[in-house]
Amino acid sequence: MTPSERLGALREHYSEVLRVNAKLQQQLNTAERRQEKLTGQVDRLQRENETLKTSSLYVATAEELLDDGVVIKQHGNNQEVLTEVSPTLREELDAGDRVAVNDSFSVKTVLEAEADARAQAMQVEQRPETVYDDIGGLEEQIREVREAVEQPLVRSEQFDAVGIDPPSGVLLHGPPGTGKTMLAKAVANETNATFIKMAGSELVQKFIGEGARLVRDLFELASEHEPAIIFIDEVDAVASTRTESKTSGDAEVQRTMMQLLSEMDGFDDRGEIRIIAATNRFDMLDRAILRPGRFDRLIEVPKPDETARGRILEIHTQEMNLDDVDLTGLATDTDGFTGAELSSLATEAGMFAIRDDRTAVRLEDFHDALEKVSDEDDSTGVPIAFA
Ligand code: ATP
Repeated sequence: MTPSERLGALREHYSEVLRVNAKLQQQLNTAERRQEKLTGQVDRLQRENETLKTSSLYVATAEELLDDGVVIKQHGNNQEVLTEVSPTLREELDAGDRVAVNDSFSVKTVLEAEADARAQAMQVEQRPETVYDDIGGLEEQIREVREAVEQPLVRSEQFDAVGIDPPSGVLLHGPPGTGKTMLAKAVANETNATFIKMAGSELVQKFIGEGARLVRDLFELASEHEPAIIFIDEVDAVASTRTESKTSGDAEVQRTMMQLLSEMDGFDDRGEIRIIAATNRFDMLDRAILRPGRFDRLIEVPKPDETARGRILEIHTQEMNLDDVDLTGLATDTDGFTGAELSSLATEAGMFAIRDDRTAVRLEDFHDALEKVSDEDDSTGVPIAFA
């Protein structure tokens, strides 16, 4: 082999070595990536393994912080226990927080506020669509609600200038289905406020042991969404007259009520939040809730009279294709009906027209609907109308 042939062969060999090197480098990179991935998997599995090996913790609510420790109440069995808590955890713990405890009831962690429970129990509407014009026959009530709830929200400076505190909340009372929820929604619409609704019965039934915490959550949620209208329906469930009995259920309702009152008392610095509560059982209410600074405006929402019934029928038939129907006559015929019943009467009349394969609704459909509604009342024994 001549020297130049040798040089050529060496060059070829060198480039071959370079090619092999590049290929091996690529393989090495792939292997390294795979190793990284597998190490990640091992870590995750190790963590899972650890979690599976540690015993589960129980969920409880911290009821009271004392010098000797914390009183916790276990969810499920409602057992109350005085237990120890480490100084660091104690710093971040407030009464009403949910905590996780071990077999010997020591507090291990403080749990985050539970978003799910909130979502389940509270209905939040950014700006409801109901307007005052959708409400029939409650002009006086609308005026009062606007004065007590709307004005303080939209013209708070004027209240400052006059030097009076606006009412914290108003209480609407009257029979079911008379438009109390509608009133609250309409105020929220008019003031561009978020409407947050919660039923009093939810506060005391579904979440035994958590009522006070839910009340706190409710007001917290409202302050995150200012301006906001908090609407507590069936407030009588929380604020019913105190009884002498000392069962744990009653104690729970008491605690929920105390939390509600304290939230309302601390209202001045709360900004643009107003509370509207509603009840069908005004007679059951604990007077403590009616003291000044709390629900100091009581507004009665009665069943509609004849003129109001006419207006409500007009509202609910607005979009309907009516064939010469005398609403005034119907208003006379529906003595004792609530707004909700008038609304379903209109729908029912529409159903009769559809059943008859018509698109226009006649007076006879309303009469058939009336007959049906009064029959239903008899059969269920519910004395809503025609009783
Ligand atoms: P509850 O005490 O059972 O919660 P409520 O007084 O809050 O009842 P709403 O929920 O406001 O009653 O009314 C139920 C439905 O009845 C409304 O969606 C509406 O269709 C109709 N309605 C009730 N009152 C009126 C009214 N004054 N004008 C027009 N519609 C009404």
